[in-house]
Amino acid sequence: MTTHQATGIHARSYQQWIDGSACEAASGARFTRSSPAHDVVVGDYPLADVVDTDRAVAAARKAFDAGPWPRMSGAERSRILFRVADLIEKHKDELVLADVLEGGKPITQVRAEIAGAVDLWRYAAGEARSQHGESNTSLGQHMLGLTTREPVGVVALITPWNFPFVIVSQKLPFALAAGCTTVVKPSELTPGSTLRLGSILDEAGVPAGVVNIIVGYGASVGQRLAEHPNVDMISFTGSTGVGKGIVRASAGNLKRVALELGGKNPQIVCADADLDAAADAVVFGVLFNAGQCCNSSSRLLVETSISEDFLARVDELTKRVTVGDPLDETTKVGAIVNQNQLDRILGFVGGARDDGARIRLGGTRMKSDKGLFMAPTVVSDVTRQMTIANDEVFGPVLAALTFDDLDEAISIANGTHYGLSAGIWTSKYESALKAGRELSAGTVWVNCWMDGFPEMPFGGMRESGIGREQGRHAIEDFMETKSVLFHQGPRTSRWVPALEAGQQ
Ligand code: NAD
Repeated sequence: MTTHQATGIHARSYQQWIDGSACEAASGARFTRSSPAHDVVVGDYPLADVVDTDRAVAAARKAFDAGPWPRMSGAERSRILFRVADLIEKHKDELVLADVLEGGKPITQVRAEIAGAVDLWRYAAGEARSQHGESNTSLGQHMLGLTTREPVGVVALITPWNFPFVIVSQKLPFALAAGCTTVVKPSELTPGSTLRLGSILDEAGVPAGVVNIIVGYGASVGQRLAEHPNVDMISFTGSTGVGKGIVRASAGNLKRVALELGGKNPQIVCADADLDAAADAVVFGVLFNAGQCCNSSSRLLVETSISEDFLARVDELTKRVTVGDPLDETTKVGAIVNQNQLDRILGFVGGARDDGARIRLGGTRMKSDKGLFMAPTVVSDVTRQMTIANDEVFGPVLAALTFDDLDEAISIANGTHYGLSAGIWTSKYESALKAGRELSAGTVWVNCWMDGFPEMPFGGMRESGIGREQGRHAIEDFMETKSVLFHQGPRTSRWVPALEAGQQ
């Protein structure tokens, strides 16, 4: 561990985790990550390639085919997963620091994320012992049908940089509860907290080979996992473009694919809504995690009759949001993850201006001695056809459109390729019900935004994903269903005419 003199920030050194042991990459290569908020190195990590990937998959394969994990009772797996949750809680401060420094995210926010992750591990641990199939006794006197549920096998989990520990916790405990074994590949931009999980799992009693954690680039390690003939399922969270590539790469052995992808999520604000609460949620929805959030409510659809007044409220609240050092307890919005991402955001804002939209607030990089900070941005006079109304910006940029009635609002809301989440602010229950039923989104929030619970499924429709995480059915995604049919008593029916006595 090395300490940066001026900031006092420590750079942590990590190892990958294969077959129950911490180890270096086979090539010996390592890489570093600098804090996007402080411009200093905060971590160095082994750089995996296809050799490490194949080793990790082989360990997971052996642990699945011959190891104890898939054969244990649900109760035993549950006990171990509860221990993991306790240990995450015990080591939470170092996990928080890793995500804050690598991701540039506000420390108060990351504390809540790690607490939420602990809750996910506990929820999955509870579910581990209630997984079972069904019997069918209605098939006739001589038949008994059993539907058994079995773990899918080796699952590769690929995660993005924006919520590293939360997202691995939306997948891994559920795959483990099902009895699967895994290879985990976090993003190369924020791998620290996931790599740290290796020794936590070991301490909790997860057997060797059940969870293998490697970090390398998507084009090498990620691609190899998606193509690998010994991987049975891939669970991916990331951009829609990479998700489509994973579907293609996984065709070789027709692996099961679960995808959590991008979104262009609208919040609809009706004239009859509690406008104070709605304005607060709109600002929170687009600025949370500096807009680098799959659930970012990057589209505001506001009823024309109140649009000027409502946008003035949004502007005022936006100006009050504190942007800056993620280690400062008062910061609400931290840094943009890297220069490429910042350039991309600025490109979208420039494009919106060229298309005729109005940049009411922000629109530029913030002046600061160090770090990558984007000014919270509000863009109005946006029309449905503009790129800013359709593409995921992944930055603190709100695109505001207007509507005249709810049918129009729903038509605009459903008018992109995405379908991750959507929301409505209204005091009319008829409008709330209509929106809840007609919005094409995996989650619809009514008079709230981004509230989530381990009990509630999460995932996207259309190009926002395949499958659902969390909730009772999440474990089912990691399980195969098998029908076992038993015949009872002598077989009386014959397909070929039976042989007469003496013909035998
Ligand atoms: P990304 O798609 O660039 O990368 C995600 C992961 O995939 C990383 O680990 C990366 O190394 C890996 N990867 C890259 N190329 C690959 C390839 N060819 N084969 C296999 N793996 C590859 O996404 P990102 O920039 O890290 O994250 C931002 C995106 O993630 C946004 O689009 C966001 O909406 C989405 N996201 C979705 C959810 C959700 O739950 N729906 C949650 C968070 C983020």
